[in-house]
Amino acid sequence: MAAKIIDGEAVAKTLTDQIIADATELTAAGRPPHLVAVQVGENPASKIYTNMQRKNCEAAGLEYELLELDEGISQNDLLAKIDELNNDPKVTGLILQMPLPSQIDARQVQVAISPAKDVEGMHPENMGQLFYGGGIVSACTAAAAVELLKQTESNLAGKEAVVVGHSEIVGKPIAAMLLQSLTESPTVTVCHIATKDLASHTKNADILFVAAGVSQAKWRGYNRKKKAGEDVSLPDLTPLITGEMVKEGAIVIDVAINRIPKGFDSGGAPLKNDKGKNAMKTVGDVDFEAAKEKAAAITPVPGGVGPVTVAMLLKNTIACAKAMA
Ligand code: NAD
Repeated sequence: MAAKIIDGEAVAKTLTDQIIADATELTAAGRPPHLVAVQVGENPASKIYTNMQRKNCEAAGLEYELLELDEGISQNDLLAKIDELNNDPKVTGLILQMPLPSQIDARQVQVAISPAKDVEGMHPENMGQLFYGGGIVSACTAAAAVELLKQTESNLAGKEAVVVGHSEIVGKPIAAMLLQSLTESPTVTVCHIATKDLASHTKNADILFVAAGVSQAKWRGYNRKKKAGEDVSLPDLTPLITGEMVKEGAIVIDVAINRIPKGFDSGGAPLKNDKGKNAMKTVGDVDFEAAKEKAAAITPVPGGVGPVTVAMLLKNTIACAKAMA
């Protein structure tokens, strides 16, 4: 039986309706949620994100400010700016745009953001709160992935959950969130690059989260080597999780976003679009077409975790603003 397709856009819309109501209330009380994005230097990828942040914030009634700092700013000056924003009562949320220039120690700056304004849920204090089951914010993507699971299945006790990927922003916080209930958590296994037999784990998963980004990493690695003049053959861009690796009736949450070519010509060159550029597609880590024939429910890419992640950023911004009010 074909799986239920989990509609991230619909879940994001429901979350956003509540965010709009909360933002309206806070603004009426004279405490408008005010998010500041700090960007150092110019970066085309960052611009896409900040434009999206502005659009989403403004549509939901949150104030948004983009603070553009000079590419050459020193670590100390950037830390002083963060300190100023931490102490500005008008600012209720702070987001640090990545990447940062090489003279900046990104971790040190991220940690300097006040945990009370850390709308990305990345501060060690907020990460630590996940283990205590408290805190007002949690890492946006992990929270989005777990939200989609909970909207699909509320009874997790006794289930086998497998998380593929153990990064700080996705895999680890997903595992921590799944383990929050003392009595109704699933049994959680975390797999990663050094896992010996990935399929043996995923085949047992009643709940499968995948956040590895393997195809894109392979495609980027291939291009890097090619640019450096190395003799390199086309990478195998088969999804990390094939249909056979999915258990019948599983719930599959595919977090990955891989931008890879749509296909290749007979000479191994990527197919071109109308503008003569490589024709690209966005896919997850799971072979969606094959997995949807076995799973009970599955997220699409795009349209699954992505839109809910954006809503979670706004939800965290509201949570910080409320806690400060
Ligand atoms: P990361 O590079 O920090 O971590 C990748 C993880 O995958 C690591 O734990 C690594 O051990 C594991 N991994 C790599 N190759 C593997 C393999 N062959 N088998 C098993 N595990 C393997 O990446 P990240 O920042 O956690 O992001 C993961 C994916 O999630 C990426 O595709 C990224 O684009 C996507 N992402 C999506 C959103 C969203 O809003 N939907 C947000 C953030 C990240």
